[in-house]
Amino acid sequence: MVLEQQRGVTIWFTGLSGAGKTTIAQFLAEHLRKQKYKVELLDGDIVRQNLTKGLGFSKEARDENIRSIGFVANLLTRNDVIVIVSAISPYREIRDEVRQQIRDFVEVYVNAPLSVCEKRDVKGLYKKARSGEIKGFTGIDDPYEPPLNPEVECQTDCETITESVTKVVTQLKRFGYVQSEKEALTRIPPHPQILA
Ligand code: ADP
Repeated sequence: MVLEQQRGVTIWFTGLSGAGKTTIAQFLAEHLRKQKYKVELLDGDIVRQNLTKGLGFSKEARDENIRSIGFVANLLTRNDVIVIVSAISPYREIRDEVRQQIRDFVEVYVNAPLSVCEKRDVKGLYKKARSGEIKGFTGIDDPYEPPLNPEVECQTDCETITESVTKVVTQLKRFGYVQSEKEALTRIPPHPQILA
């Protein structure tokens, strides 16, 4: 399919570490790229290794990190790129500040109970936080403020990855950022091994 015009939007995934932000973001990016949309993925961990290298995890540093991601996301969005941000972004106020700036903004709350995220412990960070090796870890000894009115909420403890991705795509279509495609969303196996 050749798209005549694409509308920019920032799709902002927020949630606890291990909730599923990166997983859903990557499948969404792949799904949209297959349909020839211009997509850029801004992953919190990768941004911290490059754009905001050296920033810590105090509230001020976290806000600064989110502001920087928001700034780049805004530049891309206004040039009609679909920007997918995956970042814990624990503070509501700064998320709302970014939302005001970008305007074409879809907030996705990737929601899974702390106990589930901790059991998954994808990066082994919860274990370190519990043992005190890491201080100020979101959900353990640092706050997470859930969105009050997200455009999408994915409950990854009781949804498959396909269901979570479909929820986001459905809203993007509803808001007119993505056109209806003839093919159904590519079936995603229940235990994918795509994470690099
Ligand atoms: P985050 O980016 O939020 O830190 P990750 O995406 O790295 O989290 O890890 C989430 C883990 O949860 C992955 O191992 C993924 O396979 C699993 N998972 C189970 N169900 C879902 C779902 N519906 N959506 C996203 N991830 C899921």
